[in-house]
Amino acid sequence: EAADRRSKLLEINKVAAKYFYMLLRSPQGVHALRYFEERQLSKETMQHFGLGYSNKFSDDLYQYLKKQGYEDDLLKDSGLVSIDERRGGHDKFWNRAMFPIMDANNRVIGFGGRVMGEGEPKYLNSPETMIFDKSRNLYGLNFARVSRRSHILLCEGYMDVIALHQAGFDNAVASLGTSFTNGHANLLKRYTKEVYLTFDSDGAGVKAALRAIPILKEAGLTAKVINMRPYKDPDEFIKALGAEEYQKRIDEAENSFMFEVRMLERDYDLSDPESKTKFFYAVAQKILNFEEELERENYIEAVAAKYQIGFEQLRSVVRSEGTRGG
Ligand code: ATP
Ligand code: MN
Ligand code: MN
Ligand code: MN
Repeated sequence: EAADRRSKLLEINKVAAKYFYMLLRSPQGVHALRYFEERQLSKETMQHFGLGYSNKFSDDLYQYLKKQGYEDDLLKDSGLVSIDERRGGHDKFWNRAMFPIMDANNRVIGFGGRVMGEGEPKYLNSPETMIFDKSRNLYGLNFARVSRRSHILLCEGYMDVIALHQAGFDNAVASLGTSFTNGHANLLKRYTKEVYLTFDSDGAGVKAALRAIPILKEAGLTAKVINMRPYKDPDEFIKALGAEEYQKRIDEAENSFMFEVRMLERDYDLSDPESKTKFFYAVAQKILNFEEELERENYIEAVAAKYQIGFEQLRSVVRSEGTRGG
């Protein structure tokens, strides 16, 4: 029964994806097509990601799906329409540039829709449904899982994934407008050992990276952090500097612990001896999280070299914190 319903919902998503895809290539989709072109997506890229357009009439998809014979009850469960007693069916997405979201097996499980130009909300996503679990799916994974690159690039947005793939980085994925979860980490673990974070370089992106790092480590994955400054996100970086420069940033990616320490440093004033002392105690506490002696020594060395403190000095702080804390 439930399996039946799930396969019906997958079918509706597929029909909707094809409809949006067709609309983008019809006279009604010219603005959306222009929007994607302005964002420098090629025809091949639009096709590869199945990009589409949702019409500006607020019940356009609803009417189309009704004509295909789907019942209201099922349509409601798809998350694509809401049905009001008096007003009838109402689409979730209208007049938006559409991004079908595929699971690792290339099945359409939901959609993201972007307003073309300015407007709120910038992105609208399908709600969670029987077939759409945002914490267990990643955008682009259907392609990234068969990439020849051994690592995964984890970014924030749909456009980042698409721009990276177009530039040849077919190992890019993004979470679906939610924060990164254990479910995501366990999913990635099936395909890689090493994840490169390429989140936005603004405050929100840094916060998201600081949250994702322990989740990745917990799952047994190695995390590195790509610096995209002075650009805001991978899409903008690639547009400005191109794929070769981006590859350099991958090669120069920062060790995730050193990234965490560098972000921690922002809370201290290293020109003030008292604050500086507190900083090193905080770093020592973090170093103690490494279980291996050799690993601790290597991080003590790296921090000592970077923050002008003697290796022996920092090691003794780590030791004293270790015996103090138990
Ligand atoms: P663009 O380049 O098209 O402006 P972006 O990916 O850079 O988009 P961000 O604002 O950095 O946009 O958001 C990153 C991601 O967060 C988006 O791709 C989307 O998945 C999600 N997101 C953004 N705004 C919203 C919103 N209002 N509601 C839900 N999810 C959102
Ligand atoms: Mn952002
Ligand atoms: Mn962007
Ligand atoms: Mn962004």
